[in-house]
Amino acid sequence: MANIQQRLPENVPGDFYVDASCIDCDTCSQLAPSIFRDHGEQCSVYHQPETDAETRVSMMALVACPTGSIGTTEKHDAHLGIDAFPMLIAENVYFCGFTSEASFGGWSYLIVRPASEGGNVLIDSPRFATQLVKRIEAMGGVSQMLLTHRDDVADHALFHKKFGCERVMHADDGARRLGAEKVLEGEAEILLADDIIVIPTPGHTRGHLVFLYKQKFLFTGDHLAWSPKRQTLTAFPSVAWYSWREQTRSMARLKNYNFEWVLPGHGDLHHDSKANMRYHLQSCIEWMQTR
Ligand code: SF4
Repeated sequence: MANIQQRLPENVPGDFYVDASCIDCDTCSQLAPSIFRDHGEQCSVYHQPETDAETRVSMMALVACPTGSIGTTEKHDAHLGIDAFPMLIAENVYFCGFTSEASFGGWSYLIVRPASEGGNVLIDSPRFATQLVKRIEAMGGVSQMLLTHRDDVADHALFHKKFGCERVMHADDGARRLGAEKVLEGEAEILLADDIIVIPTPGHTRGHLVFLYKQKFLFTGDHLAWSPKRQTLTAFPSVAWYSWREQTRSMARLKNYNFEWVLPGHGDLHHDSKANMRYHLQSCIEWMQTR
């Protein structure tokens, strides 16, 4: 719950504000870029919502914020934000909102599939918030939970307990210690289902994985994201905990795959044609090689 006494001075006057507890995860500025911005080491409100649509997306940011750092001085129906999640991205792929502080506001995604096709898949863990869990349950629950890496596992154990989902993770990121049911090893790609390929991408962490769904949606964890500033795909050298060199090598392996969506845990998501994604991936690899 945000504290008005700790309202950051960078907020413009008015109803919505960010307080001093903000951890600068950028979820709000990515979700509602017309309202929130990253002003340096934290985010703040630079434009107060004026329309119903702007109020709704601001309430979504309030709900998605991992630290409850967004507040309002006026009363709003919380369901404006709560009921918006999971939020449809495209086809049957959703953003879960309700990010967790334990994964520094990392984004998690839900693939909704009928049981005959293997059931729903959660990629990384959102916060185990009752309202979100009920909505996921109404959408068919969770059959499988794919964990990209050790930093974004958050409430994986609670989701497993609730839905009995099989957790899939790489051994080199502590999968056994976390109790994952399916522990992957090595660097060879794995066909997890007809429509899901697991691609080991060591670099950010030793056991980092990305998941390719339907040759279209690439769930990239902390491996790859879109840079709004450079207008191309990028990676984050300052958080290459295991090895930047390995991450560059892993990035080059992605040239073997086609995708139209990059859906990261941290950083901006992006949609483009397969050809353009291929172009941006190549530019990212070349940029990484210069770092
Ligand atoms: S979502 Fe919350 S923690 Fe993340 S940048 Fe915005 S206010 Fe800060």
